[in-house]
Amino acid sequence: MSYLMDMDIPELERLLKNMDEPSFRAKQVYSWLQRGATIDEMSDIPKNLRAELNKLPLGSVKIFKEFKSSKTDAVKYLFLLEDGEFVEGVLMRYRHGYTMCLSTQIGCRMGCAFCASTLNGLVRNLRPGELLGQIAAAERNNRVSENQRVLSNIVLMGSGEPLDNYENIIAFLKRVTSPDGLGISPRNISLSTCGLVPKIYRLMEESLPVTLCISLHAHNDALRSQLVPVNRQYPIPMVLNAVKAYIKKTGRRAIIEYALIDKLNDGPADAASLAKLLKGINCHINLIPLNNVPERNLKGSSRKRAMEFASWLAAEKTSATVRRSLGTDIEGACGQLRQRHLDENGG
Ligand code: SAH
Repeated sequence: MSYLMDMDIPELERLLKNMDEPSFRAKQVYSWLQRGATIDEMSDIPKNLRAELNKLPLGSVKIFKEFKSSKTDAVKYLFLLEDGEFVEGVLMRYRHGYTMCLSTQIGCRMGCAFCASTLNGLVRNLRPGELLGQIAAAERNNRVSENQRVLSNIVLMGSGEPLDNYENIIAFLKRVTSPDGLGISPRNISLSTCGLVPKIYRLMEESLPVTLCISLHAHNDALRSQLVPVNRQYPIPMVLNAVKAYIKKTGRRAIIEYALIDKLNDGPADAASLAKLLKGINCHINLIPLNNVPERNLKGSSRKRAMEFASWLAAEKTSATVRRSLGTDIEGACGQLRQRHLDENGG
């Protein structure tokens, strides 16, 4: 099935040509769709054409619930898709503007030990229009005036593994960076992966130099294979070789994500090993105390321990920042909101 939200301008042109409509309508329709409008709201589209468009599957994304964080400037959305599935996204306000964190799949099949997204496996991939739809819905919910764009940055760090939904993510990235769409520079987009090595090599050939973030979380293969099972297929040395090649090809500094887990990977010896492992790689480490997931038996390190860990890394001349744990009070961690919704509603 073809959904209107999944179509780019040439595809809409073909569709409208078949309906005997002039090609300039394609840009008009596209622009409305990207702003999260319904067909009936397309005020410069003739009524009869709107009626025809209303007969086609749209593939829209609607805000089902909104959770405002009391501690931070974050809004978490539970989005409803047309087939009744739910995904979550977070809008975060920083000094330089809004950053949107998007989900890329419904559920996930990577099986990471601490992650709520993967508890029930993969349900399905999200389509490009469903990623753009999350943005459109959140923008519509936050803008002050009709033509204002609120978003400056995008992070693909919600539920799902973006490189396990490769084609759709590339189609999304092409559209969101295009001047006909939001025109967001690849430099302002980050893609986070658990380390699907062959796909990292493919990504660096796409001329879409997004910032690559690697969910490392451990400095040795024994521990990483327990936490991130895909490490058994693509162990740390393979992942880091791919990261080095990505940095060389794109000129972009990489981000290493390291979730601090109480007594498991947060000691001084762990910091020293991590620094040694990453020596000579142009990267920055984001330290995130693990958000406790009640379903799993892993506890996050204290904020104090996280600050200590950062200072041990600094002593090794390794650049690291403790990220503010955005929206823990709104189930900020990956997949927690959807999981809670499913639990409460017998899903
Ligand atoms: N699949 C991708 C992107 C989604 S997860 C990836 O693995 O990178 C975004 C980040 O949140 C990843 O670094 C992931 O490991 C981390 N994460 C998942 N559950 C978490 C939790 N309970 N606490 C802290 N970080 C978590």
